[in-house]
Amino acid sequence: MSDCLFCKIVAGEIPARVAYEDDQLLAFHDINPKADTHLLVIPKRHIDNLNHLTEADAALMGQLLLKLPVIARQQQLNGFRTITNTGVEGGQDVFHMHFHILGGANLPGF
Ligand code: C5P
Repeated sequence: MSDCLFCKIVAGEIPARVAYEDDQLLAFHDINPKADTHLLVIPKRHIDNLNHLTEADAALMGQLLLKLPVIARQQQLNGFRTITNTGVEGGQDVFHMHFHILGGANLPGF
């Protein structure tokens, strides 16, 4: 999607501090971290949010979920919080599906 911020990060048109990349997924450090470690994990292919998933996305979503603890461990996190905001009412600001990984000593309360 041409006007999507995270698609531009995938395309290398906007810089990001990349923590993990494979053919389907990208993880990068959040520009405005809410914890000591704050990463965003996204599918490279544009999907607005969880509301827009179809059965065809099942394998991709499985890969994404499986990679979350792998990426967290690479950041030396033994435990972490995962959040995905869905839709305006869910607090989503960037409409390219992303999973926040939050961890470290300054993990905010929930
Ligand atoms: O879940 P939500 O859509 O609110 O989260 C968007 C996240 O994207 C925010 O945590 C924001 O700091 C982050 N962001 C970023 N790099 C940008 C723009 C936004 O990491 N260039």
